[in-house]
Parts: sequence; structure tokens; C-alpha cells
Amino acid sequence: MPHSSGGGSHGGGSHSGSFSSSHSSGGGNLSAFRNRYFPGAKHRYVYYRRNVPHYVYSNYDLDDFRRSAKGQIFGCIFMILFMIPFIVTPLMSIVPVIAVSKPIKLDYGDTSVVIEDNIGVIDDERELKKTLKDFRDKTGITPCIVTVKTEEWAANYSTLENYAYDYYVNTFDDECHWLFIYSEPTSASSSSSGFNNWQWEGMQGNDTDNILTENKVGDFNEEVQKLLTDNDVGVGEAFNTSFEDLNETVMNFDSNIIPMVIFFVVWYGIIGYVIFGMIKGLPAVLHAANAVEVDMAKNKQEAKQMEICCNYCGGIYVRSQTGNICPHCGAPASSSIALDQMESVKRPDDSRKSSYDNDPELKSSGDRIKNLFRRFKSDNNDDM
Ligand SMILES: [Zn+2]
Repeated sequence: MPHSSGGGSHGGGSHSGSFSSSHSSGGGNLSAFRNRYFPGAKHRYVYYRRNVPHYVYSNYDLDDFRRSAKGQIFGCIFMILFMIPFIVTPLMSIVPVIAVSKPIKLDYGDTSVVIEDNIGVIDDERELKKTLKDFRDKTGITPCIVTVKTEEWAANYSTLENYAYDYYVNTFDDECHWLFIYSEPTSASSSSSGFNNWQWEGMQGNDTDNILTENKVGDFNEEVQKLLTDNDVGVGEAFNTSFEDLNETVMNFDSNIIPMVIFFVVWYGIIGYVIFGMIKGLPAVLHAANAVEVDMAKNKQEAKQMEICCNYCGGIYVRSQTGNICPHCGAPASSSIALDQMESVKRPDDSRKSSYDNDPELKSSGDRIKNLFRRFKSDNNDDM
């Protein structure tokens, strides 16, 4: 459906069109558990991913922790579904604006430029038509200017905008026209007071919105209104001059959208941050069912001192937990070494990988090093 591109009246000034805008706010944060000790944390839980321990700190008892984790999964799914409109809707409005405007293809039916001067107020119709054709060739939007007596429509329509809307939808089957209705009361020409209460209204098809942006149309409307108000400028000349000026800039990048672009960058930054936070927190939540409570450690050093490395499978686990049996392979703790004694190990060279696979003894130390490496990585990545 077309919408008003704005208009004006004698004495009433110009008004802008009915552009819809959407803005919204929202967001959320999952912070029931954290990956780091925080003041007030009463419990520390461990879960294993790829034979490496990960920790969660919480105020919750284990049961509450698990229940809350389930809630968080649903919350997370809900949040992501909830946020889809906040991601998609702005995207739909920003992409067409940022995308460099391409002219509309002239394949939407009747694209002939029409000037229907029913009341004989347009002096140089040929010149205006030429300018309007230039506009059409540049933009692919077909302009159409109609002049009418106010009495023609005033009996059936409360506003010229309503009349212009009906005129548009009854005349064009597409959304690629830009219609102008200029209206004057019959008395205007013979009025002795000299006051001619003219009005005008623009109606643009929805498919023109990418090119006829609010800013561009706003400037155009202002110029039309200014020229129509000038007694020395005729109606045809007012539109002709305004269209000539518009033709110069209509396909240029609209620098007025830069603040909008900045706003969207910030907007998606916030959304990205929230979603990243949820996704980062998900592993802990998903593993909550297998998490077990371990003694509190208030920092990474303390946590590390409680870790041991299984000499058999190379897995890393928390000392004194599960009766000192490796939770990864079931080997007794006697075959494990405290992690702080293994600081000097280095990552294996890939070219020697085959010999690790063949020799179980070597393989286990290779796995151990891999796990240490993962442990190192998770130390540096864990954060909720
Ligand atoms: Zn083991």
C-alpha cells in the first residue's frame, strides 16, 4: 500500500509523510552461575568436558543448581526466540537503506509519466514532463502529477491525503509510482481577496521507500512548499525546479543515515553481547546434570592445586573426589600425578603422533599433554 510522502497547504506549512518507524528495547542476562569465584558463592561444582575439569560457582545447593540449570536452558531458548524480532526487524529496515540505491526496473506496468492538469495551473507542461522523465529514468519511479478542484474531492474525503491514497490505489497496480495531487478551490482564480487556499499531497508506493528516503523526501517537500508559497513561481515551475534539484541527489548515498547506522551497530553490539553471554554460559548449564560439588577454591591457583592428572588416561580431575578414582577411566589415584608437578611438560610434536598411538604408555602421556593444553585453554577462555 502506498503511503503519504508529505504535502502542504497555503498557510498551513508542509507536513511530513507517514513513515513507520520501529524501535524497541529489551534484553536480559543469565547470571545464576558464574565461572569464577564471586563473593557470596557457597558452592563450587565441577563438570568434565573432554577430560578437563570446568568449574561453576553458585549460591545454589546441588539440587537447586540442577533445577535452575534446567530453567536456564528453557530461558535461553525462550530468550533467543524472543530476540528474533529484535534482530530481524531492524535488519529489514537498515539493509535496504544502507544498500546503495539501485533504480527500480521499469517492468511494473505503465511507466509513462503523466501530468493531468485538470485546472490549468501548469504553465510549461513540456519542460516539467522532461524533468519528470529524467527522474523516472534515474530512479525507476514513475512520477505523476494531477491537479484538481478542491470541490472534486472535498465532498467525499475529509483530507486530501485520503483522496490521494484512493486515487493512487485506483490508478496504479504497483507500488512504484509517486503521485502528486495539487488542489485549489474553484473560487481561487476569481477570488478578490487573493487568498488561494491550495493544497498538495504526495503519495509514494512502498517500493519507492529505499530511494525516496524520509530525508530526501523531506528536503524535496520543503522546496516544493517554499516555491508554491512564492507568488512569482507557478505550480508547474515549483514542481519542475524541485524535481530538477532532486534529480541531482536522489541516487546519492544519504549521509543522514549515518547516526542510524551507528545506532544499529550499538544495537547489534548489545544483542550480540547478550547472546554471546548466553551461549558462553550454556556448556555449564548443559553439564549441570553431571556436575558434582567439590571443595571451594577462591582462585585459579587454589583450584589447580586440587587437580591431578591420571597417569593412565591422561585425564585431569579434582583430587579427593569420587573416592580418588579417575572419573574418566576409573584408574586409582595412585597412578596420577599432582598437576602442579607437571608444569614443565610441552606439547607433543605432531610428526611423532603415530608413535603415540602405537605405544599405550606414550599415548597416555600424549593425551595427558593434550589435556593439559585443553586445561590451559579453558583457563583462559572460561568466563560466563
Ligand atoms: Zn584416568
